[in-house]
Amino acid sequence: MTTLFDVPLDESVQVLKRVLPLMSKQRVPTIPQNYAVWYDYVTQRNEDLTEEIEHLIDRGNGFDPASCRTIYEKYFISELQSEVDGIQGAVREAVESVLAELGGLGEDINHFSDVLDKSGLSLQEDPTKEDLNRLVLELVRETARTRTRSKEVEGSLHNMASELTELRAQVDRLSKDSRTDALTRVANRRAFDESLKRMAKEVDDSGAPLSLILCDIDHFKAFNDSHGHLVGDQVLRFVAQEMEQCVKGRDMLARYGGEEFAILLPNTPLDGAIMLADSIRSIVEAQRIKNDKDETIDKVTISLGVAKYVSGEALSDFVERADACLYTSKANGRNRTTGEHELPKH
Ligand code: GH3
Ligand code: MG
Ligand code: MG
Repeated sequence: MTTLFDVPLDESVQVLKRVLPLMSKQRVPTIPQNYAVWYDYVTQRNEDLTEEIEHLIDRGNGFDPASCRTIYEKYFISELQSEVDGIQGAVREAVESVLAELGGLGEDINHFSDVLDKSGLSLQEDPTKEDLNRLVLELVRETARTRTRSKEVEGSLHNMASELTELRAQVDRLSKDSRTDALTRVANRRAFDESLKRMAKEVDDSGAPLSLILCDIDHFKAFNDSHGHLVGDQVLRFVAQEMEQCVKGRDMLARYGGEEFAILLPNTPLDGAIMLADSIRSIVEAQRIKNDKDETIDKVTISLGVAKYVSGEALSDFVERADACLYTSKANGRNRTTGEHELPKH
């Protein structure tokens, strides 16, 4: 298999000459992670990545550190994720086979001891009293020894099983971490993309409604500028918490990008999703935020867009509809909710 390591020097230099001006034009810092993303974009190695970057360039919002990170993690760390998934499967199989072995061994040993006990009894007829005594003693000793051995084997198998179970828990944690946003502890973009695919497929099979809320904090750049990035981070955590309290069951809240959140709502029609979105909006608006000196500062508001999935449509169309609604909320003055029925028909 040819890999990137096989690319000839000349060719890589040609790519570099195309990548750097592009990154510079989009004001993307040329750190290795960003270079990996833009290398793949220029060489069109990954169709989804190319499409996503093109979309972001078209939107013209630039590439802030958070969105660069999101793209890098989405397309490059997912390879690690498949490794994690592989280990997880192997460990699970090993645990199961050890546990099955344990069960089998227990049965074998019990059977062996039954046979020995029985043969001890049947020998009672012919032999002399002394023979009989010796035989029975021997059988009993043998049985006891086998039992001890089986206990030892069982003990070591148990240790192995608990070690494997611990390993499996570690891998589960790792896998969960790779789907969780480190700052807000809600699901990250990768987990969102996975859930979106799965939930849309369920709609294609069952026809139940699936709605999506996209939410973006208003004037967050100005908020960061006046209160500092750390208070900004606190606000992100606060908004995530408020939203988390409003979702339940199979609803899926994720940090979609820098200061954007998304909620997938299975079994929820558009009007229900709009109501939920607007109640989140008013809850956030009603809270007062404190800075690190415990002083109450400006209120934070959010704008939201809500769309309903049409069975069979491209997932990007679905998300873009919610995004268009969000954009409409911004254009109409922010701190509001727009549902897709309010979008101009085309
Ligand atoms: P609008 O109302 O139009 O959404 O304006 P805005 O200022 O919120 O939007 P803009 O896209 O111009 O700015 C988003 C800001 O969010 C800029 C970026 O620094 C900030 N941001 C993104 N991720 C983080 C983060 O993890 N922590 C902090 N503190 N700020 C972040
Ligand atoms: Mg934004
Ligand atoms: Mg914003």
